[in-house]
Amino acid sequence: MRAPTTRDEVVDQLVEVGRLAVQRGLALASGGNLSARLPDDREFLVTAAGTWLDRLTPADLSVVTLDGEVTGGAGRPSTEWKLHQRSYLARPDVNAVVHLHPQHAVLVDALGHRIRLITLDHAAYVRSVGTVPYLPNGSDELANAAAEQLREHDCLVLSHHGCSTVGPDVGMAYRRALNLEEAATATYRALLLGDTTCTFPPEALGDLRHGPP
Ligand SMILES: [Zn+2]
Repeated sequence: MRAPTTRDEVVDQLVEVGRLAVQRGLALASGGNLSARLPDDREFLVTAAGTWLDRLTPADLSVVTLDGEVTGGAGRPSTEWKLHQRSYLARPDVNAVVHLHPQHAVLVDALGHRIRLITLDHAAYVRSVGTVPYLPNGSDELANAAAEQLREHDCLVLSHHGCSTVGPDVGMAYRRALNLEEAATATYRALLLGDTTCTFPPEALGDLRHGPP
């Protein structure tokens, strides 16, 4: 999946990631929502309210400006559209936001444990995990708190709710969500085995400066 140059390519990538995310159990049908900045930079596409992520069509995407005005597409955007809008405003380098409801990431956080990055992939793609306390979905408070955390992190856990990951394109935002959930699953298994400390070797983090493997 490469950086899209046209609106059709952006749509195709969102449709594909929606299908993959549900297939992998990172969201249940209509849980979660996806967005991507359009090539013109002032608008983004976001899944419309009530859409099923594994059955997205171009008609299921709303067009919203960075000011929050709905200008086209499917009409009423996801109730969580502000989470996406504030993310783009906070991070000009971000072109895609993937918000899903992955089970292990939410559970490990809810049980009071931090999600540990254990493998090379976790360390390279996730890098660090921010946490947003539980706030009502769709609220300004949640959207603003998430945007604040994005100043330091690309991967966030929204407590008792889901995750939000960002990237320069839909593919990278999705790979971050996948690796965040895999790190949470590994953390969960490590905890079951009684381990509370194992992480990727901190001294090896410097080797990752050239990007993901
Ligand atoms: Zn949600």
